[in-house]
Amino acid sequence: MVVLGIESTAHTASVGVVNERAEVLGLASDMYRPSKGGIHPREAANHHVEVLPGLVIQALEGAHVRPNEVDAVAFAQGPGLGPCLRAGATVARMLSLAWNRPLIPVNHCVAHVEIARVLSGLDDPMLLYASGGNTQVISYARGRYRVLGETLDIGVGNFLDKLWIALGGTFPGGPALELEARNGGNLLDLPYSVHGMDVAFSGILTAALALHANGASRPDLAYSVEVTAYAMLTEITERALAHRRRDTVVLGGGVACNERLRTMVREMVEGRGGTMYAPPRSLCVDNGAMIAWTGHLAHSAGVSAPIEASAVEPRQRTDVVATPWRADPPAPER
Ligand code: AMP
Ligand code: MG
Repeated sequence: MVVLGIESTAHTASVGVVNERAEVLGLASDMYRPSKGGIHPREAANHHVEVLPGLVIQALEGAHVRPNEVDAVAFAQGPGLGPCLRAGATVARMLSLAWNRPLIPVNHCVAHVEIARVLSGLDDPMLLYASGGNTQVISYARGRYRVLGETLDIGVGNFLDKLWIALGGTFPGGPALELEARNGGNLLDLPYSVHGMDVAFSGILTAALALHANGASRPDLAYSVEVTAYAMLTEITERALAHRRRDTVVLGGGVACNERLRTMVREMVEGRGGTMYAPPRSLCVDNGAMIAWTGHLAHSAGVSAPIEASAVEPRQRTDVVATPWRADPPAPER
């Protein structure tokens, strides 16, 4: 069983080819990088339209798989930027028609959970999904992935990007801030915005920019922003574990490449006697392999969509998507 998956929810166009053992046979990605400012959806979509045909060929060649050996075509249906999603969906529909193979719509957030779940071997982990546009704590219960906590304003990666660009850098800001933070060590006072199970970042952004205007150094700002924002994410993840009586966590999303975040979450989880797993970077960021793997799970459970019912859903919520491939785990002991 070989599935080809197409990811195009935001800045990354990616095509992955996986088999039924979740082996990534081929993966080809190309990220849209604006010369200045943040992502412009139309420009990102144009980028995806240009690169996707070549990425399909590259992924298949890398996998040593011929088109007639592909059993199904999966694509990210949402959530994401409308024009970007449509670029990927159009290519997926075309391949599905040309190859006469089923078309499998996949929720992007669920795909982050599923790739981390299979790679980690953990049966029922909590996902801390920290990316550009999304920041959520996700756990499975009775037929669906549930969002237990999330950002009330912008995604954590978006926050890091906005800050870095305002400080004179270019997109993406997260990796550059991570390097800058290594030279800082003076913890500046920033708002700590945890509201129950949710977090917010725009207040920290305003406060960090005000500190910068008053002469705070960029390394100290980077350090303080990382410590503050990642402590908030670690706190809501820990509360989610306590409420759900779970002890395993997986990470997903571009911000989950960050060493400080990985370390903070690992220390919290291991301090509770649990296990934390973070996928390798290529599978933490947006990628076609996670779409292909989740497409395989969905296909095995009988999910597919006729072309006319395959519209993209830019605001698709994690918790509206049925996940018939998951058996309910036994209730934890009280
Ligand atoms: P995604 O939306 O999941 O593809 O991830 C992209 C986001 O991850 C962007 O906002 C990046 O700034 C952020 N990001 C990537 N690498 C890192 C890192 N090492 N530390 C923090 N943020 C990162
Ligand atoms: Mg993502």
